[in-house]
Amino acid sequence: MNAERSQTLSLDIAALRSEFPQLRRKVHGKPLIYFDNANTAQKPQCVIDAVSRYYREFNANVARAVHTLGSEATEHYEASRDKLARFINAARREEIIHTSGTTAAINLVAYAWAAPRLRAGDQILVSTMEHHANIVPWQLVAARCGAEVIAAPITAAGELELDALLALMGDRVKLLAITHVSNVLGTINPVRQLADAAHARGIPVLVDGSQAVPHLAVDVQALGADFYVFTGHKLFGPTGTGVLWARHEILESMPPFMGGGEMIERVDFAGTTYAPPPHRFEAGTPNIAGFVGLGAAVDWLERIGMDRIAAREAELAAYALNALRSIDGLRLLGDARARAAVFAFVIDGVHAHDLATLLDFEGIAVRSGQHCAHPLLQCYGVPAAARLSLSFYNTIEEIDAFVAAVAKVRGLLA
Ligand code: PMP
Repeated sequence: MNAERSQTLSLDIAALRSEFPQLRRKVHGKPLIYFDNANTAQKPQCVIDAVSRYYREFNANVARAVHTLGSEATEHYEASRDKLARFINAARREEIIHTSGTTAAINLVAYAWAAPRLRAGDQILVSTMEHHANIVPWQLVAARCGAEVIAAPITAAGELELDALLALMGDRVKLLAITHVSNVLGTINPVRQLADAAHARGIPVLVDGSQAVPHLAVDVQALGADFYVFTGHKLFGPTGTGVLWARHEILESMPPFMGGGEMIERVDFAGTTYAPPPHRFEAGTPNIAGFVGLGAAVDWLERIGMDRIAAREAELAAYALNALRSIDGLRLLGDARARAAVFAFVIDGVHAHDLATLLDFEGIAVRSGQHCAHPLLQCYGVPAAARLSLSFYNTIEEIDAFVAAVAKVRGLLA
């Protein structure tokens, strides 16, 4: 989309792009076209500046020192919790646990919430479209307690088979852990409906929001799940940041996972008591700079408006879908009715890794491989797929350049 047309959505894409220094660079002499946003998003200058300002101006540890730098660092670090709470409409700031990412957040729930509850024969229900981060932690805790992880099937279009999913929600299921948006298929799952169905059977719900928060306005109260997790680096923030949101009474009922400084109330060899949430779950020195940066990212996204971002991305997704369908011999994995701008595909006669490698020579960054979703790729019967994943800062011209580059690459491989 050119800057002019995008202004009909009142987003000045050219101006927004200019805030990303990475988008000005060249790769192999060609302007970078970054289509690997589901892997990690590029960072706007304001995020880079916020991280750098923390180190330049108020680098100190949080919640320990009474000196000025310590207070300023704590203020900024805790402000990020307020911003994140507002961003996903958490009822209380204490419901936001800073983690190092989605993986850490799910492991925290697995060890602090699930492990003490699971008994032999219990089940954790996931879906076939989960990222490994929403499979393996459950397998690890399940193996300790004789529980098992079961997976709900999906249709060829990459949507959950709702009847089968409901049928699997039996008495033994102690948690439904499901992705909001698939990192491979782009499918947007009906979280509210799933949460209602699970709750009607007394099953709590964890939602992996990694691929949702950068693209949709997320309201955890409206979604109705019990846990919602996401990672900061896909949300234009620094790496090593993420969030576990859970309802306050659930967090209060959870024992700590990691022990150390800052998560305690009082330490005594006769017995230690723990701080209330959120600090109970944030042992040790956190990623202060990272959360200062993530706070800046959230402020920046709120200024742009998640609804406007979602509308822009819906236009890009529709254009990309048609463009991909116009490529001879290209097979998309999944074709969900509700989808984000994430497209995994295979092309006849072209290995995904070769495609990604040759596209890189054209300046185009796409991911290839199994996308941390082995069961899903097995389900589609493909050893590897290429993936194009868009952000609102991508353009129609870039999608056109991608289609032309695919034709060129195929010519080279023919
Ligand atoms: N879940 C989904 C759906 C993802 O896309 C990712 C990142 N690819 C993760 C979990 C894991 O996120 P992180 O590596 O940041 O912990």
